[in-house]
Amino acid sequence: MPVNLLDHDLRGLTDLCASIGEKPFRARQLLRWIHQLRERDFARMTDLAAPLRARLAEIAVVQAPEIMSESTASDGTRKWLLSVGTGNGIETVFIPEVSRGTLCISSQVGCALECSFCSTGRQGFNRNLTTAEIVGQLWLASKVLNDGRPKTDSSRERIISNVVMMGMGEPLANFDNVVAALYVMLDDHAYGLSRRRVTVSTSGIVPNIDRLRAACPVALAVSLHAPSDELRDVLVPINRKYPLRELMEACRRYVDAMPVDASTGDDGTAYEPATHDSIPAPLAQKWKRDGAPRDFITFEYVMLDGVNDGIQHARQLVALTREVPCKFNLIPFNPFPNSGYRRSGTGQIRAFQETLMAAGLIATVRKTRGEDIDGACGQLAGQVVDRTRRRLRRETQESA
Ligand code: SAH
Ligand code: SF4
Repeated sequence: MPVNLLDHDLRGLTDLCASIGEKPFRARQLLRWIHQLRERDFARMTDLAAPLRARLAEIAVVQAPEIMSESTASDGTRKWLLSVGTGNGIETVFIPEVSRGTLCISSQVGCALECSFCSTGRQGFNRNLTTAEIVGQLWLASKVLNDGRPKTDSSRERIISNVVMMGMGEPLANFDNVVAALYVMLDDHAYGLSRRRVTVSTSGIVPNIDRLRAACPVALAVSLHAPSDELRDVLVPINRKYPLRELMEACRRYVDAMPVDASTGDDGTAYEPATHDSIPAPLAQKWKRDGAPRDFITFEYVMLDGVNDGIQHARQLVALTREVPCKFNLIPFNPFPNSGYRRSGTGQIRAFQETLMAAGLIATVRKTRGEDIDGACGQLAGQVVDRTRRRLRRETQESA
């Protein structure tokens, strides 16, 4: 079987080069050809020596998932259904905005965590995506979106300026493959994204929040959705294993442990300077130290009518998150067939937002994008050949 070069970050490519007697700088050249110039034909990689090109053609491929279908919403949001073999499909969504372009990528085929309001959770679970399948979503989207533009890596203008791991699946349940993919996204020889422009969204797998901080401290979004264990146990069942107190402590560690300055990383590691324009000004001031803004956690909170959207819930949230530098992103629930939930009314969402803001928190309401192509949060269903028999179990329960 040929090696898929999309499966490798710089270290993996360096090892591969060493195994065929090539110097480490060849790995950097390969990253640039594959990810910046989006080239998959080794014959066209003109600054590699001819024997190396021939050898690579024998042992390696650059293979992204195949596009099965593509749709564009009226607001310009684009969604691709990608085949990942044996009847399975995953979804990737591109959301263009005036000042940025965000790619929302999947990390698993389905999801095993069964959050009660999530369409992906309802589909059941098949398997983890490989690093190549995760990176391949970015590679493919860059290729499609850059189609017709000059193939040059000198232009710093990026169509995809941000990546969020908020598609199908729980990224921290596929830790190693996700981290290798993050390294490719951040690598200056590949996509060169700032770690603040790459967001991992998790439902709260506490030990892996700590591991992520150690491995690759990108921006972290935590799907909170409830202010008490009683309610969160129902909406986000992983809460029974990692309850709110532990989750809040992990969030605080994630942010506290963040270096505030490029030269004085608390663990001695050199990081890029923490001066990114994506941090809202009030936050930057609130957690500024030594002239550099601190990092913060984004809490995602899906607004479910009559379930978690009362003023008392907002007040509980203020108390719960007191110790965590954070910002709230309120997501109006996106319906799907037989979900059993309704979206909170606009007035209710505004009152909730105002309660949080009156207590000094930053709270934004997420604009729903791509709704007419089922491309909004929690609507991604892809094609999942369920191996958990969950759907069957649920249907049996529902019909009983
Ligand atoms: N598994 C990860 C990332 C994927 S889900 C996580 O749970 O964080 C991305 C976000 O969409 C999460 O905050 C999730 O709770 C939210 N979401 C899921 N279903 C939704 C729905 N039907 N409407 C609105 N948001 C939803
Ligand atoms: Fe999985 Fe996230 Fe959906 Fe929960 S919300 S079922 S963790 S994808």
